[in-house]
Amino acid sequence: MSAHSLASISPPPSLFGLSRAALAARLADRGMPAYRADQIFGWVYQKHHRSADRMLNLPAPLRDGFHEVCSLALPEVVSLRSTSDQSTHKFALGLADHARVECVSMRAERRLTFCLSSQVGCALGCTFCATGLMGLTRNLSAGEIVAQVLVMGDFHAWRDARFNLVFMGMGEPLANFGPLVDAIHVLRDAKGLGLGARRITVSTSGVVPHIGRLADQGLPLGLAISLHATTDELRNRLVPINRRWPLAELLDAARAYGRHTGRRVTLEYTLLAGVNDGPEDAARLAAIARRLPSKINLIPYNPVPGMAWKRPTQEAIEAFAERLYPIAPAVTVRKTLGGEIWAACGQLGAASDASEA
Ligand code: SAH
Ligand code: SF4
Repeated sequence: MSAHSLASISPPPSLFGLSRAALAARLADRGMPAYRADQIFGWVYQKHHRSADRMLNLPAPLRDGFHEVCSLALPEVVSLRSTSDQSTHKFALGLADHARVECVSMRAERRLTFCLSSQVGCALGCTFCATGLMGLTRNLSAGEIVAQVLVMGDFHAWRDARFNLVFMGMGEPLANFGPLVDAIHVLRDAKGLGLGARRITVSTSGVVPHIGRLADQGLPLGLAISLHATTDELRNRLVPINRRWPLAELLDAARAYGRHTGRRVTLEYTLLAGVNDGPEDAARLAAIARRLPSKINLIPYNPVPGMAWKRPTQEAIEAFAERLYPIAPAVTVRKTLGGEIWAACGQLGAASDASEA
């Protein structure tokens, strides 16, 4: 079969999922030198051009035949909601197969953070999370993960020299390991966006074997563990994957990750009124945090339509934090951004859209 007929039956891959080496290999198949891949990365990730016509240092035949090498198509923004103070924007993206995924940009204290999704839905069914209610539709490809950064960067006109990425949108990133790591490699490429690994945080509910695999990448990526409970009994109820990998194994993996990467692991703790916000919870949480290089991030629960969990009162949140301050390493309370547009932690997914329709 000729190369031409092959191209006509399988659509070209998205550029955004290709490493520079993979792009160079596709170009080599067409007799083109590797430095053309460097030039394309420069146009796309550094000059932010979204059309091959404008890549002026490429030879005309490559510009004209670009669509056979790879696709520059970005998902369509099917809905964009912004908070009244313009600090937070929620993007619903329509993917090629009409699946939808959401991502969020947030500006706090002049720092821009992009919250990325890794899957359409999630299979892990944490009992307080809107995405968990949806079940899993499918994994995102590396290109669909990178595309979220480009859509949000284009929206902000790339005015920020530095920004952070957190995999805290829809889905469990470590359950989509290969595409996650491929996307991180594309995002880090020095001839592309050149994002530092320290600016990227992966949040996991506890896919323990893949925490070790992430450490093996040899990158100082931030790791956040969705702890939310200090006993197996409660965590089994809130985060069902705990039945497979209980707290002791999760915390061992987190400790090893910290040792391997030299980074403190973030312990995320969503505060649910009357469930995990008592003085004994605070004491156990501090004890856990002291046993590994870590920081604690308290997340006041963000309501999800149809769920009975409640956010503690502001006094109860403060009282819990006050208990921790003297006995635990760094403690922060996450500022809730985007609640008014259903864009806060754990609010992404079908339930929030349905409530807005
Ligand atoms: N799947 C990954 C990342 C997604 S969510 C994970 O579970 O870690 C990012 C954080 O928000 C997680 O700690 C998650 O448990 C938490 N979260 C989920 N639903 C929430 C809600 N309704 N309110 C507050 N935090 C929530
Ligand atoms: Fe999935 Fe994370 Fe939501 Fe749990 S909290 S259901 S792992 S997205």
